[in-house]
Amino acid sequence: MDLWSLEPVALPAELEALRTNVRAFLAGELAAGRIASRCDQWLGGWDPGFSRRLGERGWIGMAFPERYGGSAAGALARFVLTEELLAAGAPVAAHWIADRQTGPGLLRFGTEEQKQAFLPRIARGECFFAAAMSEPDTGSDLASVRARGTRADGGWRLSGTKVWTSGAHRAHAMIVLARTEPRTADRHAGLTQFIVELPDPAVRIRPILLLTGEHHFNEVVLDDVFVPDARVLGEPGSGWHQVTGELAMERSGPERILSTFPLLAAAMDDLAERGDQAGAARVGTLVARLWALRQASLAVAGRLDAGAAPAVEAAAIKDLGTRFESVVTDTVRLLSRVVPDPGSDRRLPRLLAESILHGPGFTLRGGTNEILRGVVAKELGVR
Ligand SMILES: Cc1cc2nc3c(=O)[nH]c(=O)nc-3n(C[C@H](O)[C@H](O)[C@H](O)COP(=O)(O)OP(=O)(O)OC[C@H]3O[C@@H](n4cnc5c(N)ncnc54)[C@H](O)[C@@H]3O)c2cc1C
Repeated sequence: MDLWSLEPVALPAELEALRTNVRAFLAGELAAGRIASRCDQWLGGWDPGFSRRLGERGWIGMAFPERYGGSAAGALARFVLTEELLAAGAPVAAHWIADRQTGPGLLRFGTEEQKQAFLPRIARGECFFAAAMSEPDTGSDLASVRARGTRADGGWRLSGTKVWTSGAHRAHAMIVLARTEPRTADRHAGLTQFIVELPDPAVRIRPILLLTGEHHFNEVVLDDVFVPDARVLGEPGSGWHQVTGELAMERSGPERILSTFPLLAAAMDDLAERGDQAGAARVGTLVARLWALRQASLAVAGRLDAGAAPAVEAAAIKDLGTRFESVVTDTVRLLSRVVPDPGSDRRLPRLLAESILHGPGFTLRGGTNEILRGVVAKELGVR
């Protein structure tokens, strides 16, 4: 069995021009004070204005075809863009889920009407999505979701509770995973994905606050929500297959290795200023690890560009990548001579505080390490 089928990818030369353009744009945004560089902005940096400015440049939906408002530039171009946005700590959370997983999901499974209705707006940075998969007591065990969809005249009625739904309070729609057939021995059968447009009077969205008091995720109660047939995504009953494809998109990207990159960069500047050679050597080993992870993540983008679904590779990279993100925080904490302070106007104490406070989520979101290792073990035939 060919478990690890990643080929090294060399980025085409023309993508260097894209990288230069993105860097120049971001430098302008930072210099003008329109955005600030922070850690973990792909979860926390909700800035619709910035998303629209990216959309105007064709930098959302780079993997969508042109007829749906995308630039058809492909996964490698999107990788370069994503890398630059994350390295700069730019506020990309508003469009992140729509660009990364909803758009590709609509392209694969959506009806023509759904594609026309959502993809151009996503690409313009005007339509944001949330992913409503997790539930209380079923988080890692998605096959046991209890939200139910029952047949109604012209559509379906959804009831149940979702949890950790990032951005649902500000999104224009969310993709809800619900059980639409009674549970059988095949736990993966009978699940369906629905597009629920927001706000909806039958959807109650309650905040779950982060350690910092920030509001990014939510508990979402679906109280007999009507969803017309036209808003069923894909085939009723095929939700498991669709959602696992979505998770492969969700797990493999550079956001799984770069949430704390702004901190790493700030620490390198600090060590250089203080002439700390031993500290610089420690950070050097982190940079070497980062480079290896980056090559693996890039190779997954290459496989996606070739039309493959590298779920096992994505799981392994997420496990390694998110643990690396936490090591960056721990190492900088040990090496730096600053007290973490989220309110500081100095870069290093503020970025360190953000990384520490957001850190507990790194290895959980998108699938916990134990679950990811289970995915790999299953493929190896040892589970
Ligand atoms: C910052 C953040 C953002 C998130 N955003 C979203 C979102 O937008 N949409 C969404 O749907 N979800 C979201 N989530 C939810 C996230 O994907 C879940 O937290 C995750 O899937 C784990 O579920 P849980 O928290 O219920 O933990 P549980 O499933 O209760 O797991 C608890 C622990 O038990 C372990 N465990 C569970 N089952 C097994 C098993 N069979 N074998 C071995 N170990 C096991 C887990 O690995 C974990 O360590 C987000 C989470 C975070 C932290």
